Amino acid sequence: MKTDAKEEDILNVSEKVSKLGYQARRIDGEIRTVIAAVGDKEKEPLRALQFVEGVDKVMPIRAPYKLASRSTRPHDTIIDVNGVKIGEGFFSIFAGPCSVESEDQCLQTARHIQSAGGQFFRGGAYKPRTSPYSFQGLEEEGLKILASVRAHTKLPIITELVEPGNCALVCEYTDIIQIGARNMQNFPLLKEVGKTKKPVFLKRGLSATIDDLLMSAEYILSEGNENVILCERGIRTFETAYRNVLDLNAVPKLKSLTHLPVIVDPSHGTGNRQMVTSMAKAAAACGADGIMIEVHPDPDSAWSDGAQSLTFDMYTDLIQELKPFIELSGKVFNS
Ligand code: PEP
Ligand code: MN
Repeated sequence: MKTDAKEEDILNVSEKVSKLGYQARRIDGEIRTVIAAVGDKEKEPLRALQFVEGVDKVMPIRAPYKLASRSTRPHDTIIDVNGVKIGEGFFSIFAGPCSVESEDQCLQTARHIQSAGGQFFRGGAYKPRTSPYSFQGLEEEGLKILASVRAHTKLPIITELVEPGNCALVCEYTDIIQIGARNMQNFPLLKEVGKTKKPVFLKRGLSATIDDLLMSAEYILSEGNENVILCERGIRTFETAYRNVLDLNAVPKLKSLTHLPVIVDPSHGTGNRQMVTSMAKAAAACGADGIMIEVHPDPDSAWSDGAQSLTFDMYTDLIQELKPFIELSGKVFNS
């Protein structure tokens, strides 16, 4: 729409777009309002809207991920979680154990994160494990432990949802829903979280391309949930020297294609606690909006992902070493 378009023009154009069989999605930017006509194909009559009062131009968004695309929303999305901001200009740290094991383990870890620096407490209560014989998570008991951590520390919580049927339950306890790498293309799950208003932390699949990741984000956005955070967590390649290859190319690439915040997870990305700090600094240097880090009071006895979990001392050092990189990248770290 033109920068001086009237409210009635905007409503009129939205109505016309709907009548043509598209979902009309209104995006109010700082300078102008964009009406995204979301649908399967570009139809010729849409072009005729060019001459409707208040319209500046009609242009096709070539990317198949219309709502995630930066052409639809040129300014970066900032997601506010209980007053803590994620996205452009802010650097956020999501830290905690891989799995919720006990209240004591979580509280100790959360308190350490709070004193060393970090805004969100992570912990899996439902774990999508490669082996059915591995620990699957404490489930609802784990969610209750997370709620208690939040009550004691006021740190917002992020935890993983693995099946659509559990969405309402997990939403009762968490501030951010994590969708794990193995579920990135679980479309019923994406649609379900898309129907909520909770921010969704979407991890890139082990063999997913950048386009696949953005299309999965689009599933969530198209259901009406605008609060999507993307996470690069390492991909599978021929390399066997580490657990995954942390694809930091993804950060500037995603930043150019989408307005959504991009977080890097060097814990799963390397699988090795000795490599986490280096790659966390690299993530800050290449423009990531934050990192996800696994920390444990005693990593060698962790019930999952001990090899990549940092000790408390390593976590403190990481934050100290990371700060200059955050500053150089021009972002604010709300510790
Ligand atoms: C996790 O965050 O502990 C996890 C299971 O991550 P991913 O889905 O990236 O493997
Ligand atoms: Mn893990």
